[in-house]
Amino acid sequence: MAFEKVLTRNVGNPAVLSLAGYEGVGGYVALRKALKEMTPLEVTEEVKKSGLRGRGGAGFPTGVKWGFVPRGGERPVYLINNADESEPGTFKDRLLMAHDPHLVLEGTMISAYALECHHAFIYIRGEYVREYEILMAALTELRGKGYLGRGILGSDYDLQVTIVRGAGAYICGEETALMNSLEGRRGEPRLKPPFPAQRGIFGSPTNINNTETLANIPFIIERGAAWFTGIGKERNAGPKLYCVSGHVRNPGVFELPMTITCNELIQEHAGGMLHSGHPVKAFIPGGSSVPVLRADELDVVMSYDDLAEAGTMLGSAGGIVMDETTCMVDALRNLEAFYDHESCGQCTPCRQGCGWLHSLLTRLENGGGVEADIPLITELADNIQGHTICPLGDAAAMPARAMVAKFEDEFRAHVTRKGCPLRDKVMA
Ligand code: SF4
Repeated sequence: MAFEKVLTRNVGNPAVLSLAGYEGVGGYVALRKALKEMTPLEVTEEVKKSGLRGRGGAGFPTGVKWGFVPRGGERPVYLINNADESEPGTFKDRLLMAHDPHLVLEGTMISAYALECHHAFIYIRGEYVREYEILMAALTELRGKGYLGRGILGSDYDLQVTIVRGAGAYICGEETALMNSLEGRRGEPRLKPPFPAQRGIFGSPTNINNTETLANIPFIIERGAAWFTGIGKERNAGPKLYCVSGHVRNPGVFELPMTITCNELIQEHAGGMLHSGHPVKAFIPGGSSVPVLRADELDVVMSYDDLAEAGTMLGSAGGIVMDETTCMVDALRNLEAFYDHESCGQCTPCRQGCGWLHSLLTRLENGGGVEADIPLITELADNIQGHTICPLGDAAAMPARAMVAKFEDEFRAHVTRKGCPLRDKVMA
């Protein structure tokens, strides 16, 4: 059966930016079905049956996560749609918000209903100005037409949705830092436990899901869990948005089942390599935090489980393609400069370790490195990973360890040649 694109079906159709246009292509049918024909528990069960896994990076089953949220307690339940998309190489949620804002809102509203939540938030990356304006316009129209507020769509369910803008910190994509930011505090991660499901924003049970994750919900409710599990592979079901950037002819976002291989994504969907004389050298499959793959490892399927077996991760599916002209030391230096800049500074291994990695790699790239620097990169990564409050430390450590393990000769060449051998080649 041919794969049907659903998440991106409205991309390029500006009519869907309005409520009438979105309803004209079947929008809000799933919300009406949920409100009129299903209880919150039935919606949750359907999502559990679908096996939908979080699209933000961790890949945790969404329905199971919803099940952790206690209902009917004294405190209100909150839902946050995490649209703080900041992982380098990742721009899929941006596409959804810019081209199909009502899909994002409908997914949020159905999920809020399932969680018995009466106030949902969308926390959007501060730099996404255009996407914020588009989403806000759609939300304003919904409010004006009785889709939000008391007794929405003739039901007895009340819901408000508020959009909150971030201020440009990568760390605010982490759930607990996001909660602090949303409450008006410094965007620093919190120690867990307590987990957000027990004690989240304003001390209340809170569920946080990625934007693409929630965009799947209307389709699961309208078409059923069996439709969803029929796409892709077992435990890796449903449509998936893949980003591709770097040295390819046709960078962009591609909706595909999780049966696609890295090679197929790069060569068939992203148009192949930018310069035919420069083949692929390395590929980061899941956003900058995940371990890199070499060119000879790209026949792996881009599912959560296959990539984990290959020693890397699907992450946020932000694929970064590097051709043979790319210096791996400089690429890693660039990544570590980012993590060094974005570390919130609470944990010593992250605050100091990211800085050391950055300066050590800068020294290597500039010709001042010594042999001992190479094992030191791995040692530093080992001392960061698993020793911090939040996963930013791991995100800085994992690519460092993988780059050295897979391209050690290139790192050594920087020492023996006292500088970047690729730069020498380009200059020659
Ligand atoms: Fe902050 Fe880094 Fe610690 Fe996360 S790991 S809490 S970003 S210092």
